[in-house]
Amino acid sequence: MISPLLSEWYIGLVPFPKTHRFRELFYRLRWRKAPMSRKERKQHSKAGLELMGRHYPPYDTHCGMIYIDKSLPPGDLLDTIIHESLHACFHDLDENAVTEASESITKLLQRIGIQVSFKGK
Ligand SMILES: [Zn+2]
Repeated sequence: MISPLLSEWYIGLVPFPKTHRFRELFYRLRWRKAPMSRKERKQHSKAGLELMGRHYPPYDTHCGMIYIDKSLPPGDLLDTIIHESLHACFHDLDENAVTEASESITKLLQRIGIQVSFKGK
């Protein structure tokens, strides 16, 4: 979990992009909650978890897709952007490794004292 202080960081951004290349792989970016099946919704609800983002790697001729809920507080939004970007860059990393890396990067940014807000929100 991210410190509440992180939500006070500031990074000025242009409106949220709709596409991005991660290591030469093309992705579409959707800035809303990821669609979930009824079964997934039930599992998340039961576990008290909130799905803040989701990554679908490219396959065959289809580009990758990333969903990020832009209604998240700025600190959670930054952490989710880092997390889903790591998935996009390193498909072979498991969920724990991605989570550990994104939390470590987020903590370093917190120590630097960066303030976050999103103009594209
Ligand atoms: Zn993940």
